[in-house]
Amino acid sequence: MSTIFTKIVNGELPSDMLYQDDLVTAFRDINPLAPTHILIVSNKVIPTVNDLTEADEKITGRMMTVAKKLAEQEGIAEDGYRLIINCNAHGGQEVFHLHMHLVGGRPLGPMLYRQKGE
Ligand code: 5GP
Repeated sequence: MSTIFTKIVNGELPSDMLYQDDLVTAFRDINPLAPTHILIVSNKVIPTVNDLTEADEKITGRMMTVAKKLAEQEGIAEDGYRLIINCNAHGGQEVFHLHMHLVGGRPLGPMLYRQKGE
């Protein structure tokens, strides 16, 4: 299985790549929603969080430590930032290849907005 992110991981599609190792790749989001908006993706295709197994824990752990390092590198660690993983339709997932958004560089506001009646 291959996705648009597979092509970026393999260097077949251009990206503003910031980091790559044996498990994950990080590059800037093409449509940034904040001054810093980086995607940290698994090198292998895992479609959603629902598809993770314990064997993938090294990948998910690496995604977190790479996020921490990139936040420091971007100069946003002290002020703070948000890590987001969307899953399936209700999560608003668009690309079915596991990725974590690292977003920051400005106050991000509330995590979610209440729907009427909630
Ligand atoms: P999702 O909604 O699946 O969590 O997020 C997918 C993200 O991938 C979106 O923020 C979108 O802007 C980003 N994206 C989609 N296609 C590309 C691409 O070809 N290059 C880069 N750098 N980002 C992409």
